[in-house]
Amino acid sequence: MKAFENFEVWFVTGAQLLYGGDAVIAVDAHSNEIVKGLNQAGNLPVKIVYKGTVNSAPEILATFKAANNDPKCIGIITWMHTFSPAKMWIHGLQELKKPLLHLHTQFNKEIPWNEIDMDFMNLNQSAHGDREFGHIVTRMRKNRKVVVGHWSDTKVQAKISVWMRVAAAWADAQDMLVVRFGDNMNNVAVTDGDKVEAEMRLGYHVDYYPIGDLVEYQDKVTDTDINALVAEYDAQYDVAENAKAGGKDRQQVIEAARTEIALRRFLKDKGAKAFTTNFNALHGLNQLPGLACQRLMAEGYGFGAEGDWKTAALVRTMWFMAQGLEGGTSFLEDYTYHFDGEKSAILQAHMLEVSPEIASAKPKLEVHPLGIGGKADPARLVFTAHEGTGVAATVVDMGNRFRLIVNQVDVIKPQPLPKLPVACALWIPQPNLEIGAAAWILAGGTHHTSFSFALTQEFMEDYAEMAGIEMVVIDKDTTISGFKKELHMNEIYYMLNKALM
Ligand code: MN
Repeated sequence: MKAFENFEVWFVTGAQLLYGGDAVIAVDAHSNEIVKGLNQAGNLPVKIVYKGTVNSAPEILATFKAANNDPKCIGIITWMHTFSPAKMWIHGLQELKKPLLHLHTQFNKEIPWNEIDMDFMNLNQSAHGDREFGHIVTRMRKNRKVVVGHWSDTKVQAKISVWMRVAAAWADAQDMLVVRFGDNMNNVAVTDGDKVEAEMRLGYHVDYYPIGDLVEYQDKVTDTDINALVAEYDAQYDVAENAKAGGKDRQQVIEAARTEIALRRFLKDKGAKAFTTNFNALHGLNQLPGLACQRLMAEGYGFGAEGDWKTAALVRTMWFMAQGLEGGTSFLEDYTYHFDGEKSAILQAHMLEVSPEIASAKPKLEVHPLGIGGKADPARLVFTAHEGTGVAATVVDMGNRFRLIVNQVDVIKPQPLPKLPVACALWIPQPNLEIGAAAWILAGGTHHTSFSFALTQEFMEDYAEMAGIEMVVIDKDTTISGFKKELHMNEIYYMLNKALM
């Protein structure tokens, strides 16, 4: 698909010359057929490029070095058609910096019971060749995804597809700039962290900018620019009476458009992919930028409120993975609880900044006072998220490592909120609020989340593997005693890991 058309994944087949030239020719032909089949199946978002068979350590090293140096290449798929002695993979794997997927498949689907002979056995050896390869990858402590099954199986292709989307988002994060307007807000602990470690580990870079830099951009926005954008609002949304042309709060919509234009230009000029705001630092802005944040998020800019750069980066990354999939992705915040037994739920919102990508119906553009920030009444899109299952995720800094916390959640329909005119979602965390929220708190999770209807736990797991960070999952099988044990074990694992590194 278009969003990923500049990327490619390399397919590298392991073999050896022991079985003679004919075997290598057959391996090559079969690999070609597999790659062609995968590309033509129409289930993969990224094109696979077959890079031939590798039969020696120098060939492997050269191929992996080339992959590192090719910006189009976002990852490597390996497959051992025959036996491929894994010592020859050592130097290549030492060099490899791109995500790795080990496809444990074989060319033929079924055993040809009547025809099978020793020649066939020598050629079709992935059942043991791939185990040999897997051993060395594990021995070298290299993270990867292992996908098992026949390559024509749509379930196998779905797993490859998830990994490809994550690899694309991983590539996208490696040169990501997160613009942080103002610094961390109000002594909040969970939104802060080690930005140097984040760049080393997760790829992205966080830069502070004074809000005055944005104000300079605002001053250059013309009435013509604003009129065009406001016309777009009028066409795209239901507009509340007071926000319509001639309405008493129309000026607030105009000011919101001014900020949106300035912010978009600013981010573009800096080459930024994500940003954070800070409602204590709005000098020179007329109102809290709600509408602008909502609309920019829907365009793919990561957003985190109150200086939360880790969430801003994660929102961008999850949006990037989800491109072209149904459902939408957004920044959200745990707002308030509705206790009702097994149906106990969390109202997710923020002051204003929720992406219209997750809306159940056409958003309404409204202007209302906001009891915080001390600024003019901000414009915002008001809507309710549609129903469905999604993942809520956050990255926290544990001091010696980053921890990714993932909770599967079921979004349900809230009651109308006539006096709370903000965008929101209502969800029940799996397995229920009692365990879900307790586990989240025990894991040290934020009150901010990056949420997506389009993604599943598998995406987040692939991301944690690529980043080499800890991941804990809260889902329907979570128990508090089991979860605590996992946290304790992880503590030891990461302490030892750090000591050994
Ligand atoms: Mn917040």
